[in-house]
Amino acid sequence: MTDFNNQYVMTIDGKSVATNKTLDAFNPATKDIIANVPDADKEHLDDAVASSRRAFKTWSTAPLAERQAAVAAIGEAIADHAEEFMALMTKEQGKPRAGAEWEILGSAAWCAEIAKQSLPDEVVEDSDDRSVITRFSPLGVVGGITPWNFPILLAIWKIAPAILTGNCIVIKPSPYTPLCTLKLGEICQDILPPGVFNVISGGDELGKWMTAHEGIDKIAFTGHTDTGKHVMRSAADNLKRLTLELGGNDPAIVLPDVDPQTIAAELFWGTYQNNAQFCNSIKRIYIHEDVYDNVRDALVEFAKEMKVGNGADADTALGPIQNQPQYEKVNEYIDDCAANGYTFALGGDVDKNAEGWFIPITIIDNPPEDSRIVTEEPFGPIVPLLKWSDEDDVIKRANDTRYGLGASVWGNDTETVQRIGSQLDAGTVWLNEIHQYSPYQAFGGHKQSGIGCENSLHGLMEYTNWSTITLNKAWGK
Ligand code: NAD
Repeated sequence: MTDFNNQYVMTIDGKSVATNKTLDAFNPATKDIIANVPDADKEHLDDAVASSRRAFKTWSTAPLAERQAAVAAIGEAIADHAEEFMALMTKEQGKPRAGAEWEILGSAAWCAEIAKQSLPDEVVEDSDDRSVITRFSPLGVVGGITPWNFPILLAIWKIAPAILTGNCIVIKPSPYTPLCTLKLGEICQDILPPGVFNVISGGDELGKWMTAHEGIDKIAFTGHTDTGKHVMRSAADNLKRLTLELGGNDPAIVLPDVDPQTIAAELFWGTYQNNAQFCNSIKRIYIHEDVYDNVRDALVEFAKEMKVGNGADADTALGPIQNQPQYEKVNEYIDDCAANGYTFALGGDVDKNAEGWFIPITIIDNPPEDSRIVTEEPFGPIVPLLKWSDEDDVIKRANDTRYGLGASVWGNDTETVQRIGSQLDAGTVWLNEIHQYSPYQAFGGHKQSGIGCENSLHGLMEYTNWSTITLNKAWGK
């Protein structure tokens, strides 16, 4: 059993594997190097895929109850190590304790619920003459590729359904947040047969090798829309199955009948949870002109009370930006707003000499609709507030994006909230709530926010082939 020491190894064929070449892992709150992790070469990937192919022969035919028990056991192991995982998560990802709890305990709970799911045969026909069933058979070897914002939860969203449906999986975490995932692999060495679950670490090249690998049957990918397009092109060669969970530019629409103080807290956390490094963060806030000034001022007051700092400090609300390239990218958006003369309702004053990659909570007051801060995905703690007056117009503006991941509508008049919500083109539309997820709820993106979905029975089906099996009962009689 792993003891969460500072040694990081890959898990290939049930065994710990180190490499001569390593990559540095950083604490984003201090910029310190906190560990070295294996940097896999192509042979390591080949070994992992070969072990998964071997394991698939028996795992794909293992009884459902055994596969369900394995998924449940992964959840129990995460729960048993929750304290170590949460501390490590804060250290490598930067998120404060509350966010680490949400992610780690959520991952354990997810496994417990996915472990109860199944895809029994569908009986299409069962007459005296014929029977027709649809069977959901596993695909083979899944390559899971995850980003740095929710490293464990988004890995579990792939590992649990893959294993439950009888597949084997090779997971590659982001090079920026490999630590928790490598430890998860180590823990699972005692739980799963060798090869059912491999974890390998390396740079972006490793992801490219996976998407091109002939021995991988499906890629389950979460990351940028532009990376998703590379994945899709590369996966075309052997027609891999794909689930792509990509970027977002989620609008929130605020109606004129809201109480500014009440909505301020909802909008704040809807926007800045995980330091706004969240695919489903509110990224554009459309506020009705009647309440615009009051909602803006209430949001600014609420935000001023929130401490940005090291996630390891108990009073920190928002941690650092997770990595240096992302820190530079968010700074670019701040600079762009300043250069264009947009009004900062809050923030914008970045201390470039800070100990870690910290960005102050930043709110831009009614910039033009075609500004970069409105049309792009900054993936950091800067958000534009936008005024609206006409319902059809705000719906058009909310939908006027290449993305379609999430959206929310807020107001006391439920009928209006529902009417607007039903016209928003997004995979999840939250009405008077936000960021409610469930293992039973399909999650995915419209337009360039993705292909397919995760979670629910629809998500499970994405790890299977549909086989139609017919029987002519009358034949030969
Ligand atoms: P990213 O696309 O840079 O990297 C994601 C993963 O892909 C990493 O593991 C990376 O090493 C790997 N990778 C990079 N280039 C690759 C390539 N050419 N082929 C294969 N793999 C490659 O994304 P990121 O910066 O880690 O994450 C942030 C992005 O992820 C944001 O756009 C965010 O909206 C999106 N995201 C989406 C969801 C969702 O569920 N829709 C959830 C979280 C994050």
